[in-house]
Amino acid sequence: MAKTYSWHPGSDRVVSTWAVSVPILFDEIISSWLVRAALTQGCDPLVLTGELWPKWRVWTIDIDRSIPEERLKTLCVISGISAEIFHSAMLYPIIQQIYRGSPPVKAVWPWILSLGKRNTKLRSGLQYCPSCLAEDNNPYYRIQWRFAWHTGCETHQCRLHDCCWHCGAPIEPHRLLAENQTVSICASCKVDLGRADTISWKDEAKSFQLETDRILQGECGVYLGESISSHHWFELASFFESFIRRVNRNGDEKLLGFINEIGIVLPEHIPIMAGAGIEWLNVQMRECLLGAVWRFLTVDKDRFLQAMKTADLSRQGLCTRKESVPDLLSGIIDGLPDHSVTRTKSQKTHLSGPRPRHEVIRMMKRLERKLALLKNE
Ligand SMILES: [Zn+2]
Ligand SMILES: [Zn+2]
Repeated sequence: MAKTYSWHPGSDRVVSTWAVSVPILFDEIISSWLVRAALTQGCDPLVLTGELWPKWRVWTIDIDRSIPEERLKTLCVISGISAEIFHSAMLYPIIQQIYRGSPPVKAVWPWILSLGKRNTKLRSGLQYCPSCLAEDNNPYYRIQWRFAWHTGCETHQCRLHDCCWHCGAPIEPHRLLAENQTVSICASCKVDLGRADTISWKDEAKSFQLETDRILQGECGVYLGESISSHHWFELASFFESFIRRVNRNGDEKLLGFINEIGIVLPEHIPIMAGAGIEWLNVQMRECLLGAVWRFLTVDKDRFLQAMKTADLSRQGLCTRKESVPDLLSGIIDGLPDHSVTRTKSQKTHLSGPRPRHEVIRMMKRLERKLALLKNE
């Protein structure tokens, strides 16, 4: 059966000023196309982008987010591909459906895998399905492989990989050289990424991915019986993702009782540190976490309310003072008992005593991440 596109149709045959024209393939992300365009002309990606934009260090930023119009014009003229098609191969149209308002210029974009610090090679934020790469006539990277909620391949029903199966290096096709000829090999050890083992994909993570895609492609989401927009969907998913991680960190009996009542067993492999958002987690962690988020998003309203009652949940238990409450939950949260306490001066002084275990672990993890970044600079 012929494959069809999910996010954009790509470009048909194009007429470019290059010796060999390189159409953008369906669902291809722009960085993948740039690297393929370079390799097809027999040059290194860094050389091609250096010629296109002489004073722009394009690979030190996340080029998949968006390209300024002036620079995009250069690309359109040389490649023969329209600006409209390039726009659809970038992440900006997607983030507009996730994030209300203009997305941050420098900070991480919510629900888009973070590139980290490119130069440090800690992570690339790019995933792949080995079977897709192996079956492609012209292997290429799909735009959906940058989405944090994508943990598997719908076509091959397997979990995605987020590093080289052989050497563990992040996926960085822009570091390939002309002689490598194809984007489907590891830039570090040159092994064929299409030869990676196929790993099974958990059903609940799959359901979350498919439903999220469906909502982004124009369908309405449903939560506790109400129709909701894509913004609301991501807001709720973020809220429950951070709630599950808080319960995992604190191990609070009452909250554990609540999530068990919903039918969720706290997943293994969830990192204890609070600082790293879902955009930084590896595919295995996200698969576990998003499966649990899916349970929260699909629970029946009566069961949700009953679970709160049985667990004797307070407002503060479900939502800390620092968190903003999704609109759709505010009515429910207002109905919970308010156990807020005003700390007296003498209580505050106790805070200077020994820190709880989860805080110490969080501080250690933060320090380890900083040291790893410094080591790689
Ligand atoms: Zn696949
Ligand atoms: Zn490798």
